[in-house]
Amino acid sequence: MSYLRKDIAEMAGYVPGFQPQEEGWIKLNTNENPYPPSPQVVAAIREELEGDGAALRQYPDAASRRLRQVAAELYGFDPSWVIAANGSDELLNNLIRACAAEGEEIGYVHPSYSYYATLAAIQGARVRTFGLTEDFRIADFPQRYDGRLFFLTSPNAPLGFAFANDYIEELASRCTGLLVVDEAYVDFADANALELVRRHENLVVTRTLSKSYALAGMRLGLAVARPEIVAALDNIRDHYHLDRLALAAGEAALRDQNWLRATVGRIRTTRERVAAELRRLGYTVIDSHTNFLFASPPDGDGRRVFEALFARRILVRHFSDPLLAHGLRISIGTDAEMNVVLAALAEIG
Ligand code: PMP
Repeated sequence: MSYLRKDIAEMAGYVPGFQPQEEGWIKLNTNENPYPPSPQVVAAIREELEGDGAALRQYPDAASRRLRQVAAELYGFDPSWVIAANGSDELLNNLIRACAAEGEEIGYVHPSYSYYATLAAIQGARVRTFGLTEDFRIADFPQRYDGRLFFLTSPNAPLGFAFANDYIEELASRCTGLLVVDEAYVDFADANALELVRRHENLVVTRTLSKSYALAGMRLGLAVARPEIVAALDNIRDHYHLDRLALAAGEAALRDQNWLRATVGRIRTTRERVAAELRRLGYTVIDSHTNFLFASPPDGDGRRVFEALFARRILVRHFSDPLLAHGLRISIGTDAEMNVVLAALAEIG
C-alpha cells in the first residue's frame, strides 16, 4: 500500500509474551507479580469511581502533578526531575524520539529488552548492539560512544544480573549521548542507580510499577532525569497519557511502601529457594536481581523443556535467539506455583 511508509509496512512488529485468555495456566512468562497490589490501590480506584462515576467525565490532570510529587518525595528529588508515563515503554519510546532523529544511532546490550529495536525502527533510528563478556560487562564498549542514546537494562532482562554502580558511572562518562538505565526490575535488587542521576547530566533512570508494585494492568512508569530532559519528554508525550484510575492507583501504590517491601521480600525468598532447587536438578542458574530466573537444563535444550512445561499448562519464556535458546526465563510465582514447576521439571528431566 503506497499510503504507508515502506519501512513501517514491512517491519516486524513487537510480539509481547503470550497472554492466555482462559484459566488454568501457571503463567510465568511475562514477569508479572503473583501477589495482588496494595489494598490501598484498590481503595483509591474505588474512590475515584465513587457514586455514579461522575469524576470520569473530566479529563485527568495532564501533568500528573500529584503522582510526580509522591514519586519525587520517595526518590528524594525535586518534582521537576520526575516524569510519569503510560508504562515505562512510553518513556523508552519518547526518549528515543527526543534524542535520535531519523538515521541517527542508538545503542543497547544484546541480550536485553528486545522492544528497544522495535522503537528504534519506528523512529527510523539506526541500532548498534554490544555483546556481553563472560563476567557480564559490555564487550568492546568504546572509550567514547557517540550514539545519541544508550539503553542499559540493569538489572538485565532476560539474564537477571545487575551492573555495579561504579561501572554505570564509567559508562555514563564514556557516552556523549544519553545513558538510560532501564531499572524495570530494580526493586528486586540490592542497589539502584538513582543517586547517579545527580552526578551525571546525561543519565536517566526509568522505572515501572508493572513488576514490583503488581500493576502491569494499570500501565504506569516513571523516570528521573535533569529538568531539561523531563521538559523535553513532557513536550512530546500525549497530553492525557495517564487516565484518572491509573493516576489514583499509582499514587496509592507508591505511598504504601510497606506493601512493596513485603511482596518483594516474599518474591526474593522464593527466588533464592527455586534457584537452589534448580541447581540441585542440575540446572545452570544465573544469580538473579529480579523477579525471574534464567536457567538452563543440563542438556542445554531450552526449547524441549519449554514444550514439556507448555504441555502441562505451565508457561515460561523461551527465546529462539541462539544466545538464549539453551535456557528459559522463569518468572517467580507463588510458592505453591513454583512447587508445581519444580515437580514438573524433576519429572521432565
Ligand atoms: N523494560 C524492561 C527491561 C522490561 O522487561 C519491561 C517489561 N516487559 C519494560 C521495560 C516495560 O515495562 P512497562 O510495563 O512499564 O511498560
